[in-house]
Amino acid sequence: MTGHHGRRSRRRFDVSGVVQGVGFRPFVYAAAAELELTGTVHNDVAGVVIDVEGLPERLIDFARRLTDAHPPLAVVEAVVMTDLEPRGGTGFSIGASSASGGHRTFASPDVATCDDCVAELRDPTNRRFRHPFITCTNCGPRFTIITDLPYDRGSTTMVDFPMCEACQHEYEDPADRRFHAQPIACHDCGPTLRLVSAGAADELGEQALSRARTLLQEGGIVAVKGLGGYHLACDAGNETAVAELRRRKARGGKPFAIMVRDLRHLRRIAEVSDDEEAILTGGRRPILLLRSRSHPSIAASVAPHNPDLGVLLPYTATHELLMGRDGHGTQVLVMTSGNVSGEPIVTDDAQAMTRLAGLADAWLMHNRRITVPCDDSVARFTAGIELPIRRSRGYAPLPIALPFEVEPILAVGADLKNACGVAQGRYAWISQHLGDMDDLATIEALTASAAHLEMLTGVEPAQLVADLHPAYRSPAWAKTQAAGRPIVRAQHHHAHIASVMGEHGVPPEQRVIGIAFDGTGYGTDGAVWGGEVMIADYKGFQRSAHLAYVPLAGGDASVLRPYRMALAHLHNAGVPWSADLPSLAACPDNERAILRHQLSSGFGCVPTSSMGRLFDAVASLAGVRHEVEYEAQAAIELEGLARGVDPEGGYRFALVPGDHQDAPTTADPTPVVGAIVSDVRAGVPAPVIAARFHDAVTALIVTLARQSRAETGLSTVVLGGGVFQNALLLPSTVAALREDAFDVLHPHLLPPNDGGISLGQILIGAAG
Ligand code: ZN
Ligand code: ZN
Ligand code: FE
Repeated sequence: MTGHHGRRSRRRFDVSGVVQGVGFRPFVYAAAAELELTGTVHNDVAGVVIDVEGLPERLIDFARRLTDAHPPLAVVEAVVMTDLEPRGGTGFSIGASSASGGHRTFASPDVATCDDCVAELRDPTNRRFRHPFITCTNCGPRFTIITDLPYDRGSTTMVDFPMCEACQHEYEDPADRRFHAQPIACHDCGPTLRLVSAGAADELGEQALSRARTLLQEGGIVAVKGLGGYHLACDAGNETAVAELRRRKARGGKPFAIMVRDLRHLRRIAEVSDDEEAILTGGRRPILLLRSRSHPSIAASVAPHNPDLGVLLPYTATHELLMGRDGHGTQVLVMTSGNVSGEPIVTDDAQAMTRLAGLADAWLMHNRRITVPCDDSVARFTAGIELPIRRSRGYAPLPIALPFEVEPILAVGADLKNACGVAQGRYAWISQHLGDMDDLATIEALTASAAHLEMLTGVEPAQLVADLHPAYRSPAWAKTQAAGRPIVRAQHHHAHIASVMGEHGVPPEQRVIGIAFDGTGYGTDGAVWGGEVMIADYKGFQRSAHLAYVPLAGGDASVLRPYRMALAHLHNAGVPWSADLPSLAACPDNERAILRHQLSSGFGCVPTSSMGRLFDAVASLAGVRHEVEYEAQAAIELEGLARGVDPEGGYRFALVPGDHQDAPTTADPTPVVGAIVSDVRAGVPAPVIAARFHDAVTALIVTLARQSRAETGLSTVVLGGGVFQNALLLPSTVAALREDAFDVLHPHLLPPNDGGISLGQILIGAAG
C-alpha cells in the first residue's frame, strides 16, 4: 500500500437489490484487492455493506464497478454512498453477516448448474467428479433452500451439512470460485442420493444413480427429488411407460414436459431458434414450448394432438448424472411434477413416499430439505420476447419494479394458477406458481408461501387484496388471514390489465385501453366476464365493450364439454341445431333436450362474455374438439391447426352500440358462427376455419381499440388474460395494432393468465 495517508479517502457503500447469494461479496473482495483498497464487506438484511479506504481515484473506479461490472446474477437496485474519516487500516476482510439494517434484501432465484461446474462434474481428476450436488458462487439452489435472511449457510437447509476441511478452505479463499458459495458441498460433506424401491434394499450414491438409470431404461417410473420438489420421470421414448405414467397420474391428454440430454439431441426433436437456444441454456432454464419434429425418441403419448413440445435441458448435477453422456443413459426423459393432478409439487420425503405411492416404482431422493415447493417454469418465445406461461423456478422471487410507491400489501391472486404477491415501496415480489385453489394442499402451500415471502422481503402487509368473486376460495382464504386488516376486492379483468400496466411502468395518472380476454372472471354485474375492453387506470375502469353475452349452462359442464358452448352459440345466433353439424353429433340426445330447455328458459344459466369459451365453441363447431381433458385444450389445438395457414379472408364480428350513453358496445359473434357453419357444410378444412377465426379475433381487437381511441383520444393498448398465451394471436394482434399507430403493452415478466394477476391486484389495492 502507499503510505500517503493524506491522499486516502474512506467511503461506505450500502448496496441494495438482488445482492446476496449471487457472488457479490467475493466480487467486492476481488475488486478491492485489485484496486488496493482496505476495508470490509458484509451482508445485512438490507443488502451488502462495504466500507473501503484507498486512493480517491481508485474509490471512484470501485464505485463504477459496483453498478457496471457486478456478477451476472446480481441486480443492483441502489448504491448509497457515505463519506467517512480515513482510519488507515490494512487488508480487506469479509465480515460476518449482521441482522440489523433497514429494509430487507432480495433473495435470488435458483440457478441452473453452470458450465464450469458441469465441466468439473465430468472431470475424473476433479475432487467433485460425479458429485450430484456440485455448485459454485454462480449456480445452484437459492430460493428453495433459504430459511431466513441474511443469506448465509446457516440460513439455508445446507446447515445440515457441516463443511469438510477442503470445502471450508475453498469457502474462505477469496481466489477460489467457491468463495462464500453457501451451498458448497463435496463427496465428503455434501448431501447424498438414496434410491428407495419396494422389495429391495435402499441403495446409495453411485449405486442409487445406476439403479435409477436401469429402472428408467426398463420402462419404470422414478420419482426424482430436484431443486423445488419431486418429478416423476420415465423414458420419453417408451410408449408403454409414458402411457402408464399418464394413466397413473390421471392426466388425460395434457402434454408432459421432457428433459433432453443436450442441445444437439434436442434439435432432432424440435425446432430451435437462436433466441430459444439462449433461453434453454441460460441460468433460469424453464420448460420452453417448441415446435416439435416427429422423432422416434418421443412416444406418441408425450404430447398427443399438440403441435408443441415442452422441453428443458438438465439443470442440476443429478439430472446430468441421471441422463448420462456415455450412451447408456436415457436421452429423453418425461419430467413431470411429482404430484397428483392439481396438487402442488411434493417436496417432503415422507410425503413423497405416501402421496406418490401409487405413481412411482422407485424414489431417487436426497437428504437436503426443500423450504418451498417450486415447479419448473414454462415459457415460450413469441412476439419477440420470452413469454412466461408459468413463472416459478429460476424466476421467483425476483422483484418487479412498481410505477409508484406502495404501502405494505399482500395480494392473494386468483383461484386458478394461484400465485400470491407482496409489495412495499417501489417493489413487488410475486410468489412461485402454487396451483389451483380447489385443492386443500394448494391452500396450505399458499399459506406457507405467503409467510415465506413476507419473511424473505420483510414486508408486513397492512392490507390485503383479493378477487371480487363471492364464491372464490382465495378471498375466503384472505378473510382467514386478515386479522382485522382491510381486504380490497379487485375485479378480475381490471387486475389483468393493471398487472400489464405495472410490468411496463405505466404511471398512475395515465389511462389506457385495456383488452382482457380469458376464460372466466366475476363481473360487477354478476355475469361471467372474459371478453372485455376497459378504459382503465389503476384506480378504476369503465367497461367500454365486451363480447355479447351467451348463456353458460351448468358452469363447469360447459367448460369441460365445448360442444355445449357450440350449441349455446348456435342457439344465440339463431342457427338451427341440425344433426349434420359435428357439435350436435357430439352431444347425447338427452343432454341436448335438457340443454335446449336451459338455453331457452335461462334455467341454470349464467350469462358469459368469455372469449375463452368462444374459442371452445369454435373448436367444437369445426369438429376439432368436443370435450377437454385440461384447461384451454380446445384453444391450444385450434391454434396449432391455424399456424401457417392463410385465412384467405377471415370472419368478422358485428358491433352493436350500447343502448344508452356509457353502455358498453357488444361484439356479436353471430356472423362468425354463421360463417363457420357455412364453411363446415362446404367442407372447408378445420385448419382454414381455425385461421379465419384467429383472423376475426385480431380484427375485432383492432376495431375495438380504434373505437376506444376515437372516443377517448387514448392510444395505449394493454393486452392481458390467458387468451394472449396464444402464439398466433398475440404476435398478430401486436403487429396489427402497431401498424395502426397504437402503443401496445403485453405481458412479458408475468404470465398473461391468472398466474400473473396478483401484481395487478397489488396496484389496484394500493391506488384505491
Ligand atoms: Zn457453478
Ligand atoms: Zn466438502
Ligand atoms: Fe383470468
